Amino acid sequence: MKASAFSYARANSVTNALELLAAHGDRAKVLSGGQSLMPAMNLRLISPELIVDIGELKELRGIAMRGDVLGIGALTRHVELQRSPDIAAHAPLLTEAVAQVAHPAIRNRGTLGGSLAHADPASELPACMIALDATIVVCGPKGERRIAAGDFFKGIYDTALSPDELLIAVELPVARENSAHFFHEFARRHGDYAVAGLAAQAIVDGDVFTDLRLALFAVGDRPVLAKAANRLLKVAVTPAVLSEASAALAGELDPQEDQQASASMRRHLAKVLMRRCVAALLGRPDLSAGGAA
Ligand SMILES: Cc1cc2nc3c(=O)[nH]c(=O)nc-3n(C[C@H](O)[C@H](O)[C@H](O)COP(=O)(O)OP(=O)(O)OC[C@H]3O[C@@H](n4cnc5c(N)ncnc54)[C@H](O)[C@@H]3O)c2cc1C
Repeated sequence: MKASAFSYARANSVTNALELLAAHGDRAKVLSGGQSLMPAMNLRLISPELIVDIGELKELRGIAMRGDVLGIGALTRHVELQRSPDIAAHAPLLTEAVAQVAHPAIRNRGTLGGSLAHADPASELPACMIALDATIVVCGPKGERRIAAGDFFKGIYDTALSPDELLIAVELPVARENSAHFFHEFARRHGDYAVAGLAAQAIVDGDVFTDLRLALFAVGDRPVLAKAANRLLKVAVTPAVLSEASAALAGELDPQEDQQASASMRRHLAKVLMRRCVAALLGRPDLSAGGAA
């Protein structure tokens, strides 16, 4: 199938893009890498009247350290994230996770901003933003807004962005001393969207967590920051403590059922992921044994 007829405008600045969006409201759509927008248009899931192409806006591209914050422009492509030494040094969770996003051809065009604005609940990068406690920077007619990643994702393909706003950048706090991370997803094949996945960022002091952010994806209508992780903070993590935490995790999830998995299968996978994550972060293989009770 082909997309419905649409008009096309190439923005020559952020201001120009915002003017176009303000003039056309929700009849316009922003085009970044096109890896989600174009398939959706070709399937006629959406039929915008105007495409505002921001792909040439160099000011929205690039990765830069500012003090203890890593700034990433919205148009930074997945492949650039994957190859960035700054990201490998200061946010290695992202380096690991982005390698699981689709395939090289898609990573060559797809952008961080596009992935976050698209807000597919099975996407890797939104969950990483929550695990890393990122700030999402958006710009609209009234200026810039900074939104905590935890408040940005509102539901399936739904975010805190208004139709007249652009996502322009992401700010990540750099990894602190004793930081550790974990990333894993279950997918039918490498490069497929996840059936269930977990992105985690932690501070480990000896054999105790002083901070633990577990962001699960593909187990609800948006990425979920697990409250159950708080049960593992500043305590000796025994198999019993971990079992209680994983049972609490299953209770806080509301997974969807689809052709890939039932809700109960997704709850089970989330518990397995939590157990493996905690075992890996603490260097305690004994904790990953014994199933996901
Ligand atoms: C076969 C295939 C497999 C894929 N597998 C995965 C996968 O495993 N994991 C995964 O996470 N993704 C996957 N993707 C999606 C891919 O990662 C896309 O790159 C990403 O979802 C969107 O990025 P984009 O730059 O292409 O955005 P676009 O397609 O250009 O835009 C996506 C949406 O975001 C909006 N938008 C884009 N940029 C902005 C902005 N700066 N401000 C406001 N709104 C904006 C657009 O209007 C549109 O609604 C897959 C895609 C394909 C085709």
